Amino acid sequence: MAIKESKDRVPDSLAELQALRQERDDLELSLAATIEHGDAIAAQLATANAQLQAEILERRTIESNLRSMIETISRNKEDLEALILTITEHSDQLDTQWLSLYRESERNARHDPLTGLANRRHLDETLETEWSRSRRCGTSLAVLMCDIDFFKIYNDSYGHPAGDECLKRVASVLTAAAGRDSDSVVRYGGEEFTLLLPNTDKAGAIRVAQDILDCLARLALPFKESPIADVVTLSIGLAVTVADGGNCLGLIAEADRYLYTSKQRGRNRVTYKGQDGE
Ligand code: GH3
Ligand code: MG
Ligand code: MG
Repeated sequence: MAIKESKDRVPDSLAELQALRQERDDLELSLAATIEHGDAIAAQLATANAQLQAEILERRTIESNLRSMIETISRNKEDLEALILTITEHSDQLDTQWLSLYRESERNARHDPLTGLANRRHLDETLETEWSRSRRCGTSLAVLMCDIDFFKIYNDSYGHPAGDECLKRVASVLTAAAGRDSDSVVRYGGEEFTLLLPNTDKAGAIRVAQDILDCLARLALPFKESPIADVVTLSIGLAVTVADGGNCLGLIAEADRYLYTSKQRGRNRVTYKGQDGE
């Protein structure tokens, strides 16, 4: 605009003329520089252009990747929504299935798979509970420790599967003898069983023990290799307490001691404190 004005009108003063000359010189200089560096500028422009093209390409690739990601996400979202819908629709059914699986695993954790009896873990938990109850209510608690006589000989004579069958038959005898809901029949381990009889005094516990021995005798599981009888027998140790002192493990230990005494006295019997002047 300043150059155009300078062509259209005559400068007013010498100073203005000089300023116009200076402006013209500057323009000539920058024109000369542009001509001189034209190639370099063209090269820079080409480089900038190439960079721009590369950037455009990269952006397009990113854009296309983003688009396919969005498509995948929305597909997954649809699948997820369908899944949530299914779960919501069948939640009652699933809850029931989970509950029954949970109950089954809880049961398995506390039961012996061979005999179906409760296991040692169940005994440990129940013993604590019943001991506390007995202490609170001042009622007696009885324990019978039972062990099949010469069971190793039985296994050696008839084989392990027959031994397993025998364990099941003995388990059913014990279950029948301990008839109260609160009674627990436990496979303590191997061929040893424990009966926990809450609210049962000594006379009651002796009756249960004698029932077991009689019932097993009537069942008459053949065992002619037994050194003491022709049928399967077992020995029992009995302990009873009104839980006013000691601890529940002491009760188990006492029953175990009397089981050992039964074995020593010839097996196929029950032994307990106070018996025959014990
Ligand atoms: P005792 O009269 O002194 O009790 O003699 P025992 O032979 O019964 O006692 P011992 O402890 O010597 O042997 C116990 C046997 O019980 C040995 C073992 O193989 C067997 N046994 C333990 N668990 C099982 C089982 O699950 N199945 C079978 N078939 N046998 C078992
Ligand atoms: Mg035995
Ligand atoms: Mg044993």
